[in-house]
Amino acid sequence: MSLRKGKNYPYGIHVPDKKALTANAVIEKMPAPKKVYLSMSQHIGAPAIPVVNVGDKVNKRQLIGEASGAISANVYSSICGTVTAIEDIVTGNGQKMKYVVIENDGRTDEIFFDQIKDFEPDTIIERIRLAGIVGLGGAGFPTAVKLKPATKLNALIINGAECEPYLTCDYRLMIENTEDIYRGIKYAARALGINRIIIGIEANKPNAIKAFEKYPDLEVVVLKKQYPMGSEKHLIYCTTGRKVPCGKMPFDVGVCVQNIKTMIAVKHAIEDNKALSSTVLTVSGEGINTPKNLRVQLGTPLEDIIAYCGGAKEGVTKVIAGGPMMGKGLISLTSYTRKTDSGFLFLTEGETSLKSSTNCINCGMCAKNCPMRLMPMYIESFAIAGDYLGAEKYGAMNCIECGSCAYNCPAKRSLVQSIQSAKFHIKEMKKNGK
Ligand code: SF4
Ligand code: SF4
Repeated sequence: MSLRKGKNYPYGIHVPDKKALTANAVIEKMPAPKKVYLSMSQHIGAPAIPVVNVGDKVNKRQLIGEASGAISANVYSSICGTVTAIEDIVTGNGQKMKYVVIENDGRTDEIFFDQIKDFEPDTIIERIRLAGIVGLGGAGFPTAVKLKPATKLNALIINGAECEPYLTCDYRLMIENTEDIYRGIKYAARALGINRIIIGIEANKPNAIKAFEKYPDLEVVVLKKQYPMGSEKHLIYCTTGRKVPCGKMPFDVGVCVQNIKTMIAVKHAIEDNKALSSTVLTVSGEGINTPKNLRVQLGTPLEDIIAYCGGAKEGVTKVIAGGPMMGKGLISLTSYTRKTDSGFLFLTEGETSLKSSTNCINCGMCAKNCPMRLMPMYIESFAIAGDYLGAEKYGAMNCIECGSCAYNCPAKRSLVQSIQSAKFHIKEMKKNGK
């Protein structure tokens, strides 16, 4: 083991971490719900294609949605039961997706993969692909694809930063499931043919840092508590000193970044022959009666999670899927757990700002806080004017949507939404050859 401090990165912001609500909450396994709603789009890329029909009886970990292309992922049933519907549903994040709905029949029959006979890189990667594993930190990029880069890499970085306020599920996993994470990491490193393994953990998680100190082949890097330390580019810089240029990817600087939960899923797929069928998430905020860290079956309705946590309190003003900085505000409670979920937050008036936005006062605070060194106020102006080429010129496509710019904006400008809109239109223009 080597233990060292990460490099200093002078930009970004300091936000109250609010982790005390769940930092000591041991992960509980929530009972399987009566019904699960399994999205065919729990990943980046083409949706999975349902391979079951209404009326079919399925077992836990039976394939119900098959990957439909190079960038896609299999989906497995998380319970035993009967398929009652295959339908498009609009959920609380405003997106319409295809879901396979399964009604629980109380059976506990499970399907497992065959035991792997060799642990060669291609065998490991194929098992990870088959198990439907994607980046569980939120990105949802198929892990098997990420573990087979076109160029040779020389460092695997594990993202233990968990810099989003409130969220503590990675922290709990790091101290409760350390060995599973380590074993998953070793398989990922073997698949990549890499010896150098780094795990970056923010300094506010001393127990997690201590948990990994016992492994002689890991470099444990203690990162400054700073937002957005968990963004790939900043994590890479602070752990290795390598700078990922604008428009480039981690593999361009010889690095692969993987998430804590993803590594546990890899361990379960390789050693325990299990497809991905559950995830661990944090339920927190002043507006939920009993904040918890939970292992939940994929497809579990949010309403069931709320009930399991003792219900929501009066006065919840905002429900967020994910962390408060990068998560998505829900417009309804119609939401079903997906592979990439990291938490659900129930925030009260004191935890959110409901003030309306006013005119930009050109204070420059957003530019000062931007970890990508962008000028968010100008990008927003171009976006509002519909001048997407102007927004692109000012670096809109380099925005990582971290929300640091909007956090301290005295005018409460919706900077991130404007930049997201500009990015969408720039991509559309390029697709249409403009
Ligand atoms: S922080 Fe807000 S008010 Fe200040 S320059 Fe940026 S957008 Fe304008
Ligand atoms: S402009 Fe983008 S990268 Fe910069 S602070 Fe805002 S959201 Fe983050």
